[in-house]
Amino acid sequence: AYDHQQLPAISQRRQTRQVRVGSVPIGGGAPVAVQSMTTTETADPVATLAQVRALAEAGADVVRLAVPNQEAAAALATIVKGSPIPLVADIHFDYRLALKALDAGMHCIRLNPGNIGSAERVREVVKVAAERQVPIRIGVNAGSLEEDIVEKHGWPTAEGMVESAERHIRILEDLGYREIKVSLKAHDIAMTVQANRLFASRFDYPLHLGITEAGTLIAGTVKSAAGIGILLADGIGDTIRVSLAADPVEEVKVARILLKAMGLKFGGATLTACPTCGRCSVGMIPIAERVETRLSHLKGEVNVAVMGCEVNGPGEARAADVGIAFGHGGVGLLFKGGAVVKRMKAEELEDALVTEAEAIAAARENK
Ligand code: SF4
Repeated sequence: AYDHQQLPAISQRRQTRQVRVGSVPIGGGAPVAVQSMTTTETADPVATLAQVRALAEAGADVVRLAVPNQEAAAALATIVKGSPIPLVADIHFDYRLALKALDAGMHCIRLNPGNIGSAERVREVVKVAAERQVPIRIGVNAGSLEEDIVEKHGWPTAEGMVESAERHIRILEDLGYREIKVSLKAHDIAMTVQANRLFASRFDYPLHLGITEAGTLIAGTVKSAAGIGILLADGIGDTIRVSLAADPVEEVKVARILLKAMGLKFGGATLTACPTCGRCSVGMIPIAERVETRLSHLKGEVNVAVMGCEVNGPGEARAADVGIAFGHGGVGLLFKGGAVVKRMKAEELEDALVTEAEAIAAARENK
């Protein structure tokens, strides 16, 4: 089997400053963190906490919550106390909500200082954030650029997005505050990529990547993988959020798979499965789906292959830690550590594979 952690890295990661969102370091060489956002009403702490826990269970490192009003702000303290992972408060326009979020113990706030009112109000928020060592994420969205910037460039552009980010950064820097991370998002992949590349060439603040309003599960996954993937391959990106019009747990799954595919995250099961073709004599696709589900709880690193026939099956199954390759006549082979360990009935292969994968993952979990 290959040692996947020894395969060449896809990119040299950009050197950035590091900020800490609670216990999670972002930037400065830390592993790329996975983020998602709750879809429950934040004012409902029971429903919100249940979703935060589900996201943490799926592998989210950090979760963001919208804080649109005082009712939502009032629920934050309870949510923070019950959350297993650090939380970000998403604030627009109202500096009082930012102060409440900080008071509640939120680990990061997402706000654009130029949009929350007078210099005095910004100073008040920054002072408390500094005291509590809470970073601020400046979030620039192509769809809500400042009017004068849009007028200057004629329409939203990558240059305009970076200009907007810079404007907000300067407000914080002028107050001596540098616990900053930045996102530059557009629904357009080219604009997102250009904006992030431009930003990365000028600043060393850590970047939160995402393609905004990417779409539904399949379309949004493809667009996000393309856009975020290009930037990760450039070495750009310290934390990512895949935005999907779907259950946010799906966002976390997609983000994790993307990072693993890019060689930027390890841990848990990774499945190689062939698409099957006319050479496969068993209904293999449901087997691959079941194996993925049955191994989704694993924490230790394990690479698993489910293959349909003897053409590419043995090669891929040998490259995995454990694999199965179906053959003809209702039999198949179980591979482990690069070698055949057993010829078995086809219907026994799935359970044998899962048992072996669980044992390997358990042995590696705490290493
Ligand atoms: Fe087809 Fe076999 Fe390749 Fe699977 S491994 S796609 S069954 S040739």
